[in-house]
Amino acid sequence: MRVIETEAKSIMVASKLPDADFVLNPYTGCAFGCSYCYASFMGKYVGEPVEAWGEYVYVKTNAVELARQEVESKLSAKGDATLLLSSVTDPYQGVESKYRITRGILEVLADARWPGTVGILTKSPLVTRDIDVISRLPRPSVGMTVTTTDDEISRWLEVRAPKATARLRALRQLSDAGLPTYAFVGPLLPHFRWQPELLDSLFREIAEAGVRDIYVEHINLKAYIRSRLEPRLANEPPEVQQSYVAARRDDHRTALTVMVESLRTKYGLGLRLDEVLYHEAGVARAAVKTAPPEVRSDAPLKDKGPREQPA
Ligand code: SF4
Repeated sequence: MRVIETEAKSIMVASKLPDADFVLNPYTGCAFGCSYCYASFMGKYVGEPVEAWGEYVYVKTNAVELARQEVESKLSAKGDATLLLSSVTDPYQGVESKYRITRGILEVLADARWPGTVGILTKSPLVTRDIDVISRLPRPSVGMTVTTTDDEISRWLEVRAPKATARLRALRQLSDAGLPTYAFVGPLLPHFRWQPELLDSLFREIAEAGVRDIYVEHINLKAYIRSRLEPRLANEPPEVQQSYVAARRDDHRTALTVMVESLRTKYGLGLRLDEVLYHEAGVARAAVKTAPPEVRSDAPLKDKGPREQPA
């Protein structure tokens, strides 16, 4: 893992995500290295190839200072603006333990009494370290990406991310601390179509962790994503490989969407953005062409015009 210290020009970046006016990404790159990550293409803006995703992290050492400088102007422009940490990286990946940049940004926002929703999305229980700061925010919303209850599948696909069971425990801890939480079930893994009991378990455990809202997104299997995913699939049984082929079809998504609707009703989970999200191919290509020199992750997307630019 290469850790490179760098300085950013700005940290609060205007967003086209449906529920975030600004996104803040303290890091470029992500050490968790999930095989399905669609932020991998952003490496080109720091001179890194797609296949190196997960092997580097650029630390924006001036991010807290930038947040301090930018917060007033952003507040004046839109007093109730919604924020997301982070859209193209994990704000609580390992280097956050040392650099504490995410924590520093949250302290700036808490001191400013940022009135809009401050969303946090991570795969790391390290977020619980900052419960004290997050609790000082007027409108926090803390999300954990959970795609499975099976730690072996988690380790296989979400290579260096904290295990799924640890994330579910962290959600419980956040809920117990009184913080509004949500789960991001994305990508919706293909095998659930043929093993509905496993999707049932996932939704049940999310609900038991005190979560009331979920985002759900179908898997994104564009060519550049498959270029990292397929080597991982190569040694799997044919039926596993076939499930990822099937996942590119409409009928597969329709079947999973029906299952999701039934289970979220069963467990009383609200579906944010009112639909199971799916990232259309053409929009992603537009984003690749126009993205500025920054990065992106597993934040929920909804294709309303051009996809969120990496922040
Ligand atoms: S999906 Fe999220 S946690 Fe995984 S590598 Fe991408 S940014 Fe990191």
